[in-house]
Amino acid sequence: MTDSGASAPIRASEALLKKLAKIGLHCEADLLTHLPLRYEDETRITPLSRAFGGEPVQVEVVVHSSELQFRPRRQLVVRAGDDSGEITLRFFSFYPSQQAALSEGSRIRAFGEVRGGFFGAEMVHPRFRKIGDNEPLPTELTPIYPTTAGLANSALQKLIGKALAVGDLSETLPEDLRQRLKLPGLARSLRFLHTPPPGTDLDTLHARNHPAWRRVKFDEVLAQQLSLRRAYLARREQGAPVLVARDDLGARLLDSLPFGLTGAQARAMAEIGSDLAQPDPMQRLLQGDVGAGKTIVAALAACQAISAGWQAAFMAPTEILAEQHYLKLRDWLEPLGVRVAWLSGSLKTKAKREQLAATAAEAQLIIGTHALIQEGVDFARLGLAIVDEQHRFGVAQRLALRKKGDNPHQLMMSATPIPRTLAMSYYADLDVTVLDELPPGRTPIKTRLVADNRRDDVVGFVRKVVEEGRQAYWVCPLIEESEALQLQTAQETYDFLLGQFFGLTVGLVHGRLKADEKQAVMAAFAAGEIDVLVATTVIEVGVDVPNASLMVIEHAERFGLSQLHQLRGRVGRGQYESSCVLIYAGPLGEIARQRLKIIFENTDGFEIARQDLQIRGPGEFVGARQSGVPLLRYADLEMDADLVEMARGVAEEMLTEHPALAERHLQRWLGSREELLKS
Ligand code: ADP
Ligand code: MG
Repeated sequence: MTDSGASAPIRASEALLKKLAKIGLHCEADLLTHLPLRYEDETRITPLSRAFGGEPVQVEVVVHSSELQFRPRRQLVVRAGDDSGEITLRFFSFYPSQQAALSEGSRIRAFGEVRGGFFGAEMVHPRFRKIGDNEPLPTELTPIYPTTAGLANSALQKLIGKALAVGDLSETLPEDLRQRLKLPGLARSLRFLHTPPPGTDLDTLHARNHPAWRRVKFDEVLAQQLSLRRAYLARREQGAPVLVARDDLGARLLDSLPFGLTGAQARAMAEIGSDLAQPDPMQRLLQGDVGAGKTIVAALAACQAISAGWQAAFMAPTEILAEQHYLKLRDWLEPLGVRVAWLSGSLKTKAKREQLAATAAEAQLIIGTHALIQEGVDFARLGLAIVDEQHRFGVAQRLALRKKGDNPHQLMMSATPIPRTLAMSYYADLDVTVLDELPPGRTPIKTRLVADNRRDDVVGFVRKVVEEGRQAYWVCPLIEESEALQLQTAQETYDFLLGQFFGLTVGLVHGRLKADEKQAVMAAFAAGEIDVLVATTVIEVGVDVPNASLMVIEHAERFGLSQLHQLRGRVGRGQYESSCVLIYAGPLGEIARQRLKIIFENTDGFEIARQDLQIRGPGEFVGARQSGVPLLRYADLEMDADLVEMARGVAEEMLTEHPALAERHLQRWLGSREELLKS
């Protein structure tokens, strides 16, 4: 152990080191924290005559013959037996050394499941080992480690055994803390998990709720929290522009709006406003359900940056959404004298040159898509970086926007509600503000479930809504496997509806349209010139047309819950009574049925996300943020939610009171992997 806390290297051949590196094992600490997937009981030998239990067993046999066969496919067929019977062992892939070990006369122990094959008892691909006469049986359960091709479990077991004997198992939790948390010691826990004593209950070990497993999972979650928190604190120390408003731009924007802020919006703005006026960079996430009114909060934050003499950038994930923000913010702010620039991939060369020049000089608010972070885009003095629907961007993209300025403040926004434990894990390096109140006067959206064979009713309903002066979205079936098919379906749906809605104006928007075509359609819809907009999920995020009061979703059973919630959130944005019609085609699978039930019964995005997490498991939320979760090898964010809560509190305490221990803890659990976490 060195002072830096770096772990000792592994002593092994070059070739072996390479294989170890493949599974992320670079140093002694990595070996010590590389824990078994499961255990096998090799402490007993089962006679062949009693080996048919369905359970994996260990048999000890002598090889009678060993033959390479080529039909029906290449395989090594080994016949062997003990005093009580005969068995065939089959291997479809094997190394020459393994073939040699299986030659006639060898005594081997094989572990696996015995099945009755055409030629009698068989084991397919058993784990096996050649042994000498009278070789003693292991007295402990055999740990089975995650591994890679060409790296035998026994080799890993040997290396890890050595590491356990000589390696650093020192405690990194302060003793009083460990007792307060009621967790067993680390050395004891790791020894137990690598070499569980005879008689340990296999089911408990496999279920992973043994105290030793809890200790390991806690350490892992703590490392993640320490890392995120430390990055957060480090960034704070770098210093950011102090954005104190020098005029009343924000107040004038508020005066010009037809509505006042909700309590939640005002609170959010107060928090953001005070962050911006500090010399350390804001790292804040603004979470608010669909329609909660995040845009105006972002606009007010931009006003503060602008009136302090800095630029604000506003990045959105799709062309449609970015352009909508651009049009809206330009309408709001240009009359107040703010210079707004627009950058998107679809700009023609000349327009682009103009906008780039403005960005590098006098523009005060620059709105756009990923185009904002391309090379060649220079900001004069970026003070605030706003990212809408931030979960749609990768870590690197958000970082790239930050790099366009000298440590600007960051405001991230998201309408995808993330359940609490996930949020704590994903966002340990962010301050979170939640808009927990919708603007007043919204009538709740009525949701209806309609079977596919009653779509005539739906057509009639759309007509009625349009006759009342409102507009409707009609979302085409999602076809994830094929974009071409998706396009074709959209076109067919459009043609079908054209026939149905004689006398109404029907528009079509999908991902393959050119940017200016998309813009034209969206502008016409926003202006009320299109009654029914047939669309693919390109309209899923952020689109805001208050006069649209009906959302029809075809094949709703194919959509995920958050998608359905986002789509439904496109209506109910004005004062009109709104509804969402989910057309489904049976027969429904169990998950699809549950999803439709949840979306039908709930309108609160957080509640929907919570239930979603229950049916899907946290793995699928990973897209929400690439960092963090992949680093958890043992802990499960949902099942081990209590550990996440505990670790969050402890991380803060460790960093301030026990920085050296915190450092060693991080080295042990993250080591080289920590890079992945940096956002
Ligand atoms: P989201 O949080 O989904 O981004 P938006 O910012 O698009 O929501 O706001 C949704 C709609 O609500 C917009 O039409 C917006 O102008 C309107 N809105 C926002 N805040 C208020 C408010 N305080 N009172 C009334 N309407 C509001
Ligand atoms: Mg929005």
